[in-house]
Amino acid sequence: MAAPSADPRKVSVVIPVYNEEANLPALLPRLLPVMEGLGRPWEVVFVDDGSRDRSLEILKAEAALHPGVKVVELVRNAGQHMAIMAAFTATDGEYVITLDADLQNPPEEIPRLVAEMDGGHDVVGTIRAKRKDTFFRKAASRLVNRTTAAITGMKLNDYGCMLRGYHRDVVDVMNASEEVSTFIPALAQQYARRPVEIEVAHEERKAGESKYSLYKLIRLNFDLMTGFSVVPLQLFTLLGFLTALWGVGFGVFLLARRLVVGAEVEGVFTLFALAFVVMGILMAGIGIVGEYVGRIYQQVRGRPRFLIRKVHGS
Ligand code: UDP
Ligand code: MG
Repeated sequence: MAAPSADPRKVSVVIPVYNEEANLPALLPRLLPVMEGLGRPWEVVFVDDGSRDRSLEILKAEAALHPGVKVVELVRNAGQHMAIMAAFTATDGEYVITLDADLQNPPEEIPRLVAEMDGGHDVVGTIRAKRKDTFFRKAASRLVNRTTAAITGMKLNDYGCMLRGYHRDVVDVMNASEEVSTFIPALAQQYARRPVEIEVAHEERKAGESKYSLYKLIRLNFDLMTGFSVVPLQLFTLLGFLTALWGVGFGVFLLARRLVVGAEVEGVFTLFALAFVVMGILMAGIGIVGEYVGRIYQQVRGRPRFLIRKVHGS
């Protein structure tokens, strides 16, 4: 069932841009030949995620020059995933493909994604073969991929690769979801009927630096964990029970020890250590609860998730 908004056979490419002035001049010259080579209608929708450099200017000039290139201008930075959601609302292709602006995802892989979708897959996930990122980023991703798979039960091998394809049906449901914080690959996976994952090439960031600081990266991963599972909450409850049980056991042991060898005094510091462990667990737990409460609070306020100032181009 194709939604009424869909333009049959059309391929929309969505590219989030945040301070990428150094990469933009190289992007379209590589992307346009690929799009023209598809032999079907296409559009490229850039979304300027509140860049403070010349990105928006460059994009506007490109949109004026090339029919088929559009720019969604956001009022302020909404984050990569919300920016993509904003751009989704401006697409009308039957297939929607997301791509990073820093050329880490080679545009030349797009026809392979389109072929999978022609084959009937409604979500095409990707796995970065020979990933070109720092050791720290790769190790962190491995951890995130494994934990997420374990707590959500979703079988995705690489959550982080944003070169992905979504059928219009899936995009429409995502647009209707209205989540204030989300992680698009995981969200799409929930709505997919026939997902597939393929290996794609991965390159080094062409220019500039990653737009994710360690802090932003942690925030993003909290979005992924809390947005798709309540297992962290349940694990914490379990941990609480186990700690309490262990505490009771320890108390019994101290009592027995007191009856047999007398009161312990030198163990004061052991007690301190234990107290810190328990306090640490408690604080982490309050934090986890806070993460959920914070998201519920944002959601119930019902403020707009992103603000589009204007759409430039065709
Ligand atoms: N991005 C964005 N908003 C942000 C952060 C990033 O639109 O707040 C864009 C960025 O311009 C790039 C893509 O999202 O096109 C991926 O970002 P980046 O390359 O910095 O992430 P990494 O590859 O380091 O994970
Ligand atoms: Mg990148």
